[in-house]
Amino acid sequence: MTNAIYPASFDPIHYGHIDIAKRSALIFDRVIVAVYDRPLKNLLFNIDERLQLAEQALRDVPNVEIARYSGLTVEYARQVGAQVIVRGLRVVSDFELEWHMALTNKQLAPDIEVVCLMTSQAYAFLSSSTLREVALLGGDVSSMAPSFVVEALRRKAIERAQDPINQPVPITSLRD
Ligand code: ADP
Repeated sequence: MTNAIYPASFDPIHYGHIDIAKRSALIFDRVIVAVYDRPLKNLLFNIDERLQLAEQALRDVPNVEIARYSGLTVEYARQVGAQVIVRGLRVVSDFELEWHMALTNKQLAPDIEVVCLMTSQAYAFLSSSTLREVALLGGDVSSMAPSFVVEALRRKAIERAQDPINQPVPITSLRD
């Protein structure tokens, strides 16, 4: 039995992530979508919200589970008996980071393989940061994520608009 983990921040989950998780579920016996607890990133959704959205997005896939994790990804993979770490590759610029992480992980855990799946063409330019920024600026993100994610983003946008101290931090520059 081959177990895989698909680790990421999922802030929030979008169609690109869902596609990779579902395709992994066709290859591996069990896939754990591992939501990183506290990444070194400016998060919009807290861990419970990110878990809940991922849960809702993948509840129809029987061999996919959602779990929270922290610490080293390879240690988590060992803990849950996963032999494989799945990652997605979008544009060429993803490659360098994924390559670096894969080689580091190999050094730490030679027994664990990193498997990168190519993005589906429709999601090649989709990232959580783009999704967040378009949504928080009032753009239509219905082609990027399921309706309950779009709704959660809409609620965040309202919350943030009412809280002048807690303004969204732009990652890209879609507002200029
Ligand atoms: P994002 O890059 O969307 O902010 P994460 O950092 O949570 O999301 O995602 C990390 C993992 O998911 C990486 O392996 C990344 O390449 C993959 N991933 C993210 N978006 C896509 C996409 N559109 N298509 C394929 N893989 C993706």
